[in-house]
Amino acid sequence: MSEKPFRARQIYEWLWVKSAHTFEEMTNLSKALRDKLEDKFVINSIQLHQAQYSNDGTIKTVFKLHDGNIIEGVLIPTDDRATACVSSQVGCSLSCKFCATGYMKRMRNLDPGEIYDQVVEINAQGLKHLNRPLTNIVFMGMGEPLLNYKNVMEAIDKITSPEGLNMSPKRITVSTAGIAKMIKKLADDQVKFNLALSLHAANDEKRNEIMPINEQNNIPVLVEALNYFYEKTKGKITFEYILLAGVNDSLQDAKELVELCKRVPAKVNIIEYNPIDQADFLKTDVSEREQFIQYLERHKVTAVVRRSRGKDIDAACGQLANKF
Ligand code: SF4
Repeated sequence: MSEKPFRARQIYEWLWVKSAHTFEEMTNLSKALRDKLEDKFVINSIQLHQAQYSNDGTIKTVFKLHDGNIIEGVLIPTDDRATACVSSQVGCSLSCKFCATGYMKRMRNLDPGEIYDQVVEINAQGLKHLNRPLTNIVFMGMGEPLLNYKNVMEAIDKITSPEGLNMSPKRITVSTAGIAKMIKKLADDQVKFNLALSLHAANDEKRNEIMPINEQNNIPVLVEALNYFYEKTKGKITFEYILLAGVNDSLQDAKELVELCKRVPAKVNIIEYNPIDQADFLKTDVSEREQFIQYLERHKVTAVVRRSRGKDIDAACGQLANKF
């Protein structure tokens, strides 16, 4: 547009550091340039559509995208953290049986700006309601991040860049249902963020039943990919494990999980199941959960119980389904 190069830097800063939603806000540009930009470009920022506040402090936000699609993001405050759980796709194609998003159609991938904007908006909520900025980001909202690989990587680049939000990659976790080929790609790309695998069953027969993606990416194939990731990045894996009563919570299941942890350097996050309308799973009761965890600990597997937050507003793990 025959403008000086420093104008590009100014616009970049308005877009990625100051998160401007309109060209009008870019007050250090001349009015004529702002009008020219307005004529030639659009800023497809995400709009805060609705927010729900849980009595445990969790905030679930429904964001409206420029094409009318809707996604959800969650702010999860704990004593020492403020975590944003962000979406990577509109809906999801993987149909995990315990997950409300899995019952929706995958409409499209989010673009890097839409992923980045969720972080910016949730960070602003943290500052407004908790008086503190985000400490962590997890890609555990709607969608499978590794099926939107390029855009997720680009968003993380901006989130961690000094010319963006300047967050440490160590504070970011990407959680996958297990796409072996893309886990290897993460390793080849030498990513610095944390990787979590939604495991939920340590044998193929059970995993096939609750996570159909396991049929093409079974446990031996995932073990190979995760070890490749560990060798290349030295990043330990986290196995996410939702306890489902009578499905994956027996001592035999715990034993299989211990065996798996001997084959991959990993720790385990135990997650309480949150009921959804679409499925009739039940959550494991406390005494059985304790036995399961004690078995893991006796066999030297590090296991942490992740308490579910925001259940009263359908904001907890597996409950995101645009129900508002
Ligand atoms: S758990 Fe993740 S990958 Fe599985 S259906 Fe839900 S959003 Fe998709």
